[in-house]
Amino acid sequence: MASRSYRTEAIVLKTLDLGEADRILTLLTRHFGKVRVVAKGIRKPLARLAGYAEPLTHGTFQLARGRNLDVLTGAESRAHYATLRGDLVSIAAGWYVAELADRFTADHLPAAPIFDLVENALRHLDAGHGAALVCRWFDLHLLDRSGFRPEVIVCVNCSGSLVEGQNAWSSAAGGALCPSCVARAGESFAQLSLRALKSLRYLLASDFASASRLRVDAPLAAEIERHLRGSVHQVIDRDVVTARFQDEIARLPRRSPVLA
Ligand SMILES: [Zn+2]
Repeated sequence: MASRSYRTEAIVLKTLDLGEADRILTLLTRHFGKVRVVAKGIRKPLARLAGYAEPLTHGTFQLARGRNLDVLTGAESRAHYATLRGDLVSIAAGWYVAELADRFTADHLPAAPIFDLVENALRHLDAGHGAALVCRWFDLHLLDRSGFRPEVIVCVNCSGSLVEGQNAWSSAAGGALCPSCVARAGESFAQLSLRALKSLRYLLASDFASASRLRVDAPLAAEIERHLRGSVHQVIDRDVVTARFQDEIARLPRRSPVLA
C-alpha cells in the first residue's frame, strides 16, 4: 500500500530516543488528537529536522502514514517560545503542561479544546506570566475540558450552598464540601478557605486574560496548588513527575539581587 502523507499543526509533548539515531515524538495535534510518530535519523549530526524534534516545539508537521507509527517527513515552526526556554521556572512549567496534556489525552482521539489550552498556556508562559498562575489555570481548565470539572459553586455532596465556614476540599468527591457534609462524613478533609474557594471559582470562569488579574499571595497559591494537585492525581492516579521537578526548583536558593 502506498504511504499517504498529511500535514497537521501540533505541539511536541515528549520525545523518546530510539535505536542509534531515531526518536519517537508524542505530538498533540490540533485535529487528530495525540499521535506518536518516528523521526528517522533525527539524532545524526546536521539532521535537517533536528530542531523540530524537541519537547514544546509548536509547528506544522508533515507526516507519512507508516505501518506502525507515522513518520516525520517535514516541519515548519509556528512558535519558538524562546523566552520560555530561557527560564528554568517557565520551562519546568511548560514540561508540566506537556506531561498533563499527555496524561489526559488518548491516542487518535480528537482533543482540539485541550490543544488550544496547551497552546494558550505555553504562549502565556512565554509572555512572562507567573508559572504558578498559568499552571493552576491550566489544571482547572484541563479538568473541565476533560469532563472532570471540579464542583466549586455548591457542595459536591448535597448541592447546598457554600457559605463562610469550615468548607473542605475532597478530590475523591470532586470538589468543595459544605461544613455539614464534612461533619457528617466523620473523616478529615483538606480545609478549603473562603478565599481559595473564590479564587477557584474565578479561575474556572475566566479566560487567561482575566485570570492574570488575580492577585494570589504565597499561602493562597500553596493552598490552591494542594487542592488541584489532589484533583489531578485523582484522575490520572499517579504522581506528576514534572511537578516534583517544579518543587525542586522552588527549593533552590535564590540568587541574591546584589550578586545578580
Ligand atoms: Zn454538603
